[in-house]
Amino acid sequence: MKKVVIIGGGFAGLNIAKKLSKSSSHQVTLVDQHNYHFFPPLLYQVATAFIEPSNISYPFRKLFQEKGIRFFMGEFQELLPEQKKIVTSSGSLDYDVLVLAMGAETNYFGNEEISKNALPMKSIEDAVEMRNHILLQLEKAVRAESAAEKTRLSNIVIAGGGPTGVELAGMMAEMGRNILTKDYPEANFRLGKIYLVDGLKTLLAPMSQKSQNEAIKVLKNLGVEILLDRLVQGYDGKEVSLSDGSKIEAATLIWASGVMARAVEGVPKDAVGKGRRILVDAHNKVNGLDDVYAIGDQCLQLSDVKFANGHPQLAQVAIQQGDLLGENLINIAQGKTMEPFKYNDKGSMAIIAKFKAVVDLPKGFFKGFFAWLVWLFIHIIPIAGFRNKAKLAFNWLWSFITNDPTLRLIIRPDKKE
Ligand SMILES: Cc1cc2nc3c(=O)[nH]c(=O)nc-3n(C[C@H](O)[C@H](O)[C@H](O)COP(=O)(O)OP(=O)(O)OC[C@H]3O[C@@H](n4cnc5c(N)ncnc54)[C@H](O)[C@@H]3O)c2cc1C
Repeated sequence: MKKVVIIGGGFAGLNIAKKLSKSSSHQVTLVDQHNYHFFPPLLYQVATAFIEPSNISYPFRKLFQEKGIRFFMGEFQELLPEQKKIVTSSGSLDYDVLVLAMGAETNYFGNEEISKNALPMKSIEDAVEMRNHILLQLEKAVRAESAAEKTRLSNIVIAGGGPTGVELAGMMAEMGRNILTKDYPEANFRLGKIYLVDGLKTLLAPMSQKSQNEAIKVLKNLGVEILLDRLVQGYDGKEVSLSDGSKIEAATLIWASGVMARAVEGVPKDAVGKGRRILVDAHNKVNGLDDVYAIGDQCLQLSDVKFANGHPQLAQVAIQQGDLLGENLINIAQGKTMEPFKYNDKGSMAIIAKFKAVVDLPKGFFKGFFAWLVWLFIHIIPIAGFRNKAKLAFNWLWSFITNDPTLRLIIRPDKKE
């Protein structure tokens, strides 16, 4: 049996692991820094206290029961290709075939001040931290003495008007409308304003113009302040500076503005492309390395004619690349040839507010309640585990009917420890 080591159990890594587990020709070990797989598209609902972290995460060891896949918890540190070995925080592993699937991380474009003071949105920890932070600022706001300080503490600036920024802004605006005045009856001031800032002239830039216009209209109606054609340039923890020279006093800056692939020590320098993505051929083999593949957000594949500048960093690309590489490795083991990767773009969607979403299909666009229902349905299918799907569906039903989920808990590690 060939020893296949997969680093990263996101959409890409998990799909190839599952595919290979069906063949008797490979012994699969999946390495991840966490002991759970999670679903990033719903992180913003955790961050806004709408659903629980456990609704969108699932332990690897439970996922792999009776599948023959081994799990190794550790943080990847270095690749030693000559020795066919990887080094992690918990030890080394030998491989016959290595698959890099560590995804991407937040890109602050070298701005240290922002990286120190802004809140990212890439992991479950980030989402829980954001929930805690926002709720804590609101507690401080109701106690603050001056009106200016109350406003600063409850203002939220979101940098980045892509799907994540739009979804966060919509959800927070709904929270402000439906919940905050009930939760904070002692607040004799207008709680918080939400600012959504983007460097481009529109929101949802990768989507159709119809989707962009709808997002702007719905968010404006919800009271979100949309600031386009300017960048967030600095944040000292108190004041957000924009490229047009204006400033916004805010205790919260959320950074939903960009990602770059995770760095891999040991990959040749000329195999690293734009956005630090690892350059791969049509079969996802890393340029210049034998038996090392990269899939998902971490790779840049320029061989797909319809995506000559590389694929978008989306879940569907990661899933399809994981599936195909799994099939291809099985094919090689059976003496067959490999298929080149071609992305099947099924469309994109974003939820803007309650009962309102936009869906772009390869041949059309729709919006509103039906789009919202489709969004919910599409996002519940890939959630790992039947119990999680049922719990998530129930949480959504409860939260949407009552407009008042009960998860606004500030849970932090005990500081004494
Ligand atoms: C907030 C948010 C919302 C999104 N919304 C959408 C959406 O609506 N639709 C859509 O298509 N896409 C969306 N995306 C993008 C989508 O999540 C990614 O394209 C997809 O997750 C990429 O899959 P992946 O397997 O390549 O990487 P990931 O899913 O990021 O998985 C990487 C895995 O590697 C592990 N890992 C990382 N570093 C190490 C290390 N050093 N050692 C060990 N393990 C490591 C991580 O723990 C993780 O399990 C969203 C992303 C975010 C952050």
